[in-house]
Order: sequence, then structure tokens, then C-alpha cells
Amino acid sequence: MNTALQADATGAATGLDADRLRADFPILAQEVHGKPLVYLDNGASTQKPNAVIDAVGDFYARDYANIHRGVHTLSERATAAFEGARDRVQRFLNAADRHEIVFTRGTTEAVNLVAASFGGQRIGAGDEIILTGMEHHSNIVPWQLLAERVGAQIRVVPLFDDGSLDLEAYAALFGPRTRLVAVVHVSNALGTVNPVAEMIATAHAHGVPVLVDGAQAVAHARVDVQALDCDFYAFSAHKIYGPSGIGALYGRRELLEAMPPWQGGGDMIRTVAFEGSTWADPPYRFEAGTPHIAGAVGLVAALDYVDGIGLDAIAAHEHDLLAYGTALLEQVPGLRLIGTAADKAAILSFVIDGVHAHDIGTVLDFEGVAVRAGHHCAMPVMTRYGVPATARASLGLYNTRADIDALVRALQRVTEMFG
Ligand code: PLP
Repeated sequence: MNTALQADATGAATGLDADRLRADFPILAQEVHGKPLVYLDNGASTQKPNAVIDAVGDFYARDYANIHRGVHTLSERATAAFEGARDRVQRFLNAADRHEIVFTRGTTEAVNLVAASFGGQRIGAGDEIILTGMEHHSNIVPWQLLAERVGAQIRVVPLFDDGSLDLEAYAALFGPRTRLVAVVHVSNALGTVNPVAEMIATAHAHGVPVLVDGAQAVAHARVDVQALDCDFYAFSAHKIYGPSGIGALYGRRELLEAMPPWQGGGDMIRTVAFEGSTWADPPYRFEAGTPHIAGAVGLVAALDYVDGIGLDAIAAHEHDLLAYGTALLEQVPGLRLIGTAADKAAILSFVIDGVHAHDIGTVLDFEGVAVRAGHHCAMPVMTRYGVPATARASLGLYNTRADIDALVRALQRVTEMFG
């Protein structure tokens, strides 16, 4: 049962009963180092509800076969499940057309696809790509590889101290050679929610397409690619309570149709001859080889689960936790939050004077509290704030105020040990 729209047992009036939802996630009911597990590493990956675990297990137990090329019953069933997943993702993102949904291994592969295919075709020597100073490495390095290969330049939108983007500087970066903007929707290192609709409008006024990295956004707010008017949107299933190893790229149909393949193999061709081959239409042109079929089934279960609760209720719940957690963390002696933008998702990134982030993470683990410590694959963000690493608590739909209280108690252990 996942439609718990009642008073929150934590006392917050968010319309979501996180304590009840926790029962859907078997992994949460365990102890770590003799303490109840408090899972606050949702930015890295989310845990899976029974609905997802069962959907994947049942698919392997009953319906699994390779897709598209079989005439037998199991292959037809598996194909229907996989192509049904495409319809489900289309609905989830409100894409205009199912052919605009390309399955990938995740966000990273989606960005690499666009860099190799769109970038290889449309970005050349002297052209410019605009990124922001808060991108995840997966939305930096593919562009660097392309830029090195073709001789393009990367321009970077600077950040204000609170972790928001300098939008005037952004607007000033456009020039006659700007070919693409690639921007993160929600920063994994800072929690900043970027005004991507506004940024897309600015880019389009210059005739420049925009790729949005939605890895940290889809589980926390409703995404509508038509309302955003973005050209590409990438996300990973494992960050929205689905399996790892699968994700999707939304691409505007006319762009995908004009793009060349980026990987060759089975399923992406129309005809093959040694004299030359021809390509399938999108999205199949970009899906060479056997995909993560069961992953697509799990992704459907995850999207159904999340939509069953309602993304608006999830967002309200997480915002309550964010406000609660921010107020408590600000009282921890020596603690500094990194990322305090007005519009933030449920990420609390912080440093403590005189304590390395890895030591924070290790002490918290002994208290049963799972957080991430490190550069969060966003080294330029660490450089911007002059820190080698941060500790990061990232919240999900099953977290409660009690989890935040446990984090704060565990941080008291840190300050006792290192203070
Ligand atoms: N972009 C952001 C903002 C992320 O947080 C992550 C993962 O942490 C990624 C991209 C990469 O996602 P994946 O490893 O699932 O491809």
C-alpha cells in the first residue's frame, strides 16, 4: 500500500506517511553496527520498494526472453513489457511522442550519447558549449572529450556563494559560436534547483538547444519536458527507486531524427551489407544491443510506485525535512552548510571545522547513519567552495524527522570525538 496520504507520524503536515511507506522497503528494516539503519544516501542511489523487487523477480520468473527479434510467446511478452516501459516513461516525462524516449544505462550514458552523436555532428572547431560550475562529472567529461576531439571550447556559468547560478553571467556567455547548453536540473552536491525553464528560454532566444541532467530531479519534483521546452532530458532509474543499469534520454523528435548512430550493433539497423548499412529510426537507432529488459520492467514499477504516492506529496514531505534538517544542522558547532540557495531540493551538504568529511562519514556509519562523504563527482564545486570534500545527507520519500534527529545525535558523537 503506497497511497498513504494521511497525517505524517513524524508530526509534519506534509500529507505523506513516511513511517508507513518505510514498510515497503525491506532493506530499511535492519541494523548497522547494532543501530537501526538510517539511510540518508539517496542522492547516490535510492532503495527499492517491494513493488520494484517483485516486478523484476516476477518478470524473470515468468516472462523473460530477448526482445524485438523473437516470434515466440515469451519474446513477445518481453517486447511488450519493454515497449510498454517506453510508453510509461513518455507519460512520466510528458513527452509528446514515445519515439522521443531512448533507453540508456542511465544519465551518464545519455549524456555521452548526445555528446557523441549530436555533438559529433553539430559541434566543431571553435564552437562553444555552455556548462555550469555545479555539473556532475558525467555532464562535464563527455563534453571535454568532445571538445578535445574537435577543438571546441567549454564556457562555464559561475556560482554565487549560496550555490545559485549567476544568470546574468549565463546570458552573457552566448555568442555566435554557442552550440549547446548542458545544465543540471538539481545539483547533487549543493541541492540547488536551477531555473531550467528560464535558462532554456534564454538559450532558445539564441537558437541554442539545451540538455538537462535530471538525475537528481525526477524523484523530487514533477518533470514535464514539454513545459520546460528542453531539447534533451536525462535521468537514471536507480535514483527514483528503480533498478540500476537503466535510464532514459528524452530527445526532441526532430533532433533525434537528424542525429547519427553513436554505437553500432544489433537492433539499431534497418539493413546491413558489407557495402554499407542503413539505420533504424529513433529511438532504436540509439539502442544497439540487448538492453536491460528487466530493468525497464523495474523502472515501470518504480514510476507507478512514485506516482501512486504523488510527486507533489513527496516534494512537500522532503521540503519539510529539508527545513527541519537545515535548522538543526545550523546549530551543530563548527558545521557549515555548503549550498544554501533559496530553491533547494532535499540535500544537506556540509563540512565541520577540523574534521575530514570521510571521518564524519565513518563515525556516522558506526551510529547506523549512512551518508556520503567525498567530492560527489563534482570536483569543481569543491574547488569553488575551497573544500576537499563534504559530507552529504540526501533525503528520500521514506525519511522522517526521526532520521534527521538520528543524524544530529550522530554528529554530536563526531564533535565529541574530534572537538
Ligand atoms: N548527474 C547528477 C546530478 C548525478 O547526481 C548523477 C549521479 O550521482 C549523475 C548525473 C550520474 O548518474 P548515473 O551514475 O546514474 O549515470
